[in-house]
Amino acid sequence: MIERDYSGKRALVVGAARSGIAAAEFLLSRGASVILTDLKSIEELPAAVTSLGGTAPEGRLVLELGGHRAESFADCDLVVVSPGVPWSLHFLEISRRSGIPVMTEVELAFRHIRGRIIGITGSNGKTTTTVLVDEMLRNTGLECHAAGNVGTPLISFATSSTEESFYSVELSSFQLEGIDRFRPGIAALLNLTPDHMDRYPGFDAYVEAKCRIFVNQGPAEFAVLNADDPSTRAAASRVKSTAFYFSRAASPDLGAFVRCGRVIYRDGTRERELFPVEDIQLKGEHNLENVLAASTIAMLAGAAREKLREAVRRFKGVEHRLEWVAEIDGVQYYNDSKATNVDATVRSLRAFSGGVHLIAGGRDKGADFTALRDPVRERTRQIVLIGEAAPKIREALAGTVPTIQASGLAEAVDICRKSATAGEVVLLAPACASFDMFENYEHRGRVFKEMVRTLAAGI
Ligand code: ADP
Repeated sequence: MIERDYSGKRALVVGAARSGIAAAEFLLSRGASVILTDLKSIEELPAAVTSLGGTAPEGRLVLELGGHRAESFADCDLVVVSPGVPWSLHFLEISRRSGIPVMTEVELAFRHIRGRIIGITGSNGKTTTTVLVDEMLRNTGLECHAAGNVGTPLISFATSSTEESFYSVELSSFQLEGIDRFRPGIAALLNLTPDHMDRYPGFDAYVEAKCRIFVNQGPAEFAVLNADDPSTRAAASRVKSTAFYFSRAASPDLGAFVRCGRVIYRDGTRERELFPVEDIQLKGEHNLENVLAASTIAMLAGAAREKLREAVRRFKGVEHRLEWVAEIDGVQYYNDSKATNVDATVRSLRAFSGGVHLIAGGRDKGADFTALRDPVRERTRQIVLIGEAAPKIREALAGTVPTIQASGLAEAVDICRKSATAGEVVLLAPACASFDMFENYEHRGRVFKEMVRTLAAGI
């Protein structure tokens, strides 16, 4: 169903956080009647839900909060699902069985947006790459917007978009599960490592969901793949678009790579030098990968080389991603609260040569923490564990380095403060979700920074 105008249509929007609210706003503005439903009560939801009620045209918005009603799923013309809502939610089956189209917010957005869409997915590095692509294109003078989880939902641009605009869109596997015709001009798959294993039957199902980003592409579109990551490289066999690669190790004929400390880009007809690796301000080999990915994407989208280089030199990274917080008595404190899975923590540790006091733990997402054993042995002095997953992590890392159990983040910071010596590093990189102790990873990161800054101020 593609509708310019939804007058007379009844839409059900599932999930009343940012994307759901934006989808409801859009549908209301196009004349639909909307039911917005969420398991949470009005008190637990953003204030924007209440104001949405205030601005909606007479009687066209109904809020069904604190639970879902099966009747609403059976009796509507369209269901739009927010990214936070599992695609497997059993209520959605009711709609599907009744032949009602069910789609995610990005699918709805794709059907209405003019302009060019760059889709970016992967297990880690999405936000960093999405933001950097946006900066590179803006710096070139192109109209670009970063969208998706990273900030503004894509649907919010549906009304204002023009043919000339670019959208650098961060896409989670949940969003990709719910696409039907979504077809980005450039689609990037950054890496594939186990994450959210509590929400998928296995790794293959997770890979399958991520690879849906390419499903509607044809030869006129581009895929950008990580040549160094075996699972990502393997995805090339199912890509129908033109595949470009980025690599730290190889020299692909199409894409970006490193040679003698310089980032080189090849597009099939010529080879160009983009910038020296030392221009990159971010720590860690994983961030080099993100910069290579962003460079490939931006070059495909028409970035100017000099402008791209300027953007790389200026880019200091995104908050909560291996973010430097303070130096106290010669010890460096880093906040990587967004390291919510094992691979992110492994990469985070590899960004340091040694002497790390690692604070880890939180809510387990079905992870295998044994992958941390080698980097922990090589780079850390001690591990301070917090949260629900502490016993499981302690067991997985037995025999590597000393582990200490802390009652919470405050005690963990205190323990590290007392034991770390000049030249060492205190790193919050939990390898877990935050929901057992915090609202979300941002909250966890802010609390950590606050504690460290208080220490730094000597209060
Ligand atoms: P995402 O949006 O995919 O979660 P972010 O850019 O927000 O990605 O980074 C998430 C976490 O993963 C951070 O802890 C960051 O340090 C780490 N990370 C960033 N890029 C990569 C990468 N390419 N490979 C592995 N880990 C990464």
